[in-house]
Amino acid sequence: MRQVIILGSGPAGLTAALYSARAHLKPLVVDGHEAGGQLTLTTMVENYPGFPDGLMGPDLIASMRKQAERFGASFRGGSATAANLSRRPFRITIEGGVEECQALIIATGASAKLLGLESERKLMGHGVSTCATCDGFFFQDQDIIVVGGGDSAMEEALFLTKFAKRVTVMHRRDKLRASKIMQEKAFKNPKIDFVWDSIPDEILDVHQGKVTGVISKNLKTSTSAERPVDGVFVAIGHTPNTQIFRDLLDMDELGYIKTHDGTRTSVPGVFAAGDVQDRVYRQAITAAGSGCMAAMDAERFLEHGGH
Ligand code: NAP
Repeated sequence: MRQVIILGSGPAGLTAALYSARAHLKPLVVDGHEAGGQLTLTTMVENYPGFPDGLMGPDLIASMRKQAERFGASFRGGSATAANLSRRPFRITIEGGVEECQALIIATGASAKLLGLESERKLMGHGVSTCATCDGFFFQDQDIIVVGGGDSAMEEALFLTKFAKRVTVMHRRDKLRASKIMQEKAFKNPKIDFVWDSIPDEILDVHQGKVTGVISKNLKTSTSAERPVDGVFVAIGHTPNTQIFRDLLDMDELGYIKTHDGTRTSVPGVFAAGDVQDRVYRQAITAAGSGCMAAMDAERFLEHGGH
């Protein structure tokens, strides 16, 4: 039986691992279905304090993992598929077995949201993608649409200009949500243009098994337009990975775990950190900070005999 199990290996999970390992709690980190979390799907991170020249997301994660391992955190692959939190020790079913623990830190993060179109589902991996870093290379000298108006959409669009001939950002409003600095970078880039007030209504062409275009709808005028493109990158935000805790923990209407008094959840001994409980800030540094808080909260909980 473990003192602490941490679900998730992004900045929240790895910082929780570092702090609980240094508190001699020998944490077990369960990697989750996207080991390393969203930072492994990104390129340059310029806003993580301490790195004035920026660094690559995957490198930051690799360093955090190494640091947690150095103090005795252990790791296993796979994802948690079920949990029994009705009494302690908590029982967590992980692909390939069951683990028990006195304290649980949930840092399972959030995953990319999709538009919900049938054609999007069918063409995923055949011209439709949610990860420019993973798939951008396949779109050399092609035309691409990036859907979304947040920082992720700007980052994807900017990254894709390295490969693509032209990148069109399609946003459902006429104002971007992205930070000013990202907006400026995107507006300045000659390869990027914008289609406002519009969403894709259908991605073509399912019959050919590849992306050949998009039928978009203008939400203000209700008119449709067809644009030939070779790729569609969907960057419209994320949903928290909390499905297995749905009936076990208090959550808000979007499925984010509710926390109180730091990182405590509605079940004593269960703590939540990072994007799984944060629909506001969602930064690598805030995730790391809350991972630290969760480890300290768990340590105190265990020290006080589980109260
Ligand atoms: P986000 O800020 O929630 O933006 C999502 C965008 O997608 C919004 O523009 C939204 O439109 C649009 N959208 C949502 N649902 C849609 C739908 N069904 N159809 C069409 N459009 C839809 O998400 P994000 O860009 O992934 O960023 C998440 C967080 O990570 C933010 O805090 C961001 O600052 C941070 N981040 C930072 C960086 C960086 O600093 N370099 C990079 C990436 C992410 P509306 O604007 O109309 O709501």
